[in-house]
Amino acid sequence: MSITDLPKIELHMHLEGAAPPAFIRGLAAEKKADLSGIFDERGAYKYKDFWDFLRVYEAATSVLKTPQDYYRLTRAVLEESVASNVVYTESFLAPDFCGGGDVAAWADYLAAIKQAADEMEREAGIVMRAIPTCVRHFGPDQAKKTAQCAQETVGDFVTGFGMGGDEAMGKQGDFKYAFDMAREAGLRLTTHAGEWGGPESVRDAIRDLKVERIGHGVRAIEDLGLVDELAEAGVVLEVCPGSNVALGVYAKWSDHPIAKLRERGVKVTVSTDDPPFFHSTMRSEFDNLAETFGWEEADFVALNTTALDAAFCDNATREAVAKKLETPDA
Ligand SMILES: [Zn+2]
Repeated sequence: MSITDLPKIELHMHLEGAAPPAFIRGLAAEKKADLSGIFDERGAYKYKDFWDFLRVYEAATSVLKTPQDYYRLTRAVLEESVASNVVYTESFLAPDFCGGGDVAAWADYLAAIKQAADEMEREAGIVMRAIPTCVRHFGPDQAKKTAQCAQETVGDFVTGFGMGGDEAMGKQGDFKYAFDMAREAGLRLTTHAGEWGGPESVRDAIRDLKVERIGHGVRAIEDLGLVDELAEAGVVLEVCPGSNVALGVYAKWSDHPIAKLRERGVKVTVSTDDPPFFHSTMRSEFDNLAETFGWEEADFVALNTTALDAAFCDNATREAVAKKLETPDA
């Protein structure tokens, strides 16, 4: 078996950001929305730089409007995950985009997403869990509404709470109230830090929001004292190397610090973030890691183990997924 065929665990993927371009084109055609400017001649998403990426992302996701759209989106995204032999995936969902932060509207969107996830689990064996996320640049008050949405729907499917959005806006600590609400509801916590922000943003996240995982966190490498603290505390990084290279956080794969972080004892995992926007898949992430750092099957098995241990699911689910890792052909 080749390394790219190994079963995989993914912990960091934005549902809208994983929308296959063909799916978005189809939806745009049905809704008579003109999105021709955001695709290249091969039908992939096209953008010049990070700011242009945000514009294209917003345009692509603007056609996702109803719970039924999200039902179809979830199926389309999970089909792509299955094609990469992902057996367990955690997806960030934004109640701000699914009902504008209103709890009742969110529940309708969530039911549609869960229906698709349940079907895909029955049909293809992939297990999905959901992490509602607040959007940092919408501010702390809107984040409280998001936390309330998460709180009201916590259960077997909604298991975590997180924050994405523009890292330059405000501080992690501004969102303490929302994260405290989520923690008290029994949700497990992650936040984006150390991607565009430096090591101090990772420190802030751990101290002020008491998260157990960090989305990205790779720029911790600029402060080796912090790297050692992360290793000591067992904080898990959701590393998305293909995303970081595509958006220019690092110029090339060989500049990416994932191997250094791992060698120094940090618990690293690998995910795609917004895969079609970066022309990546979980297969291509594994392939590039093997190619760049010489990682072998045992390294990827260890990576999966770390990810499964850090997964925001109950132990019965964890044990069931562990079996899928042992018997990839089952
Ligand atoms: Zn992300």
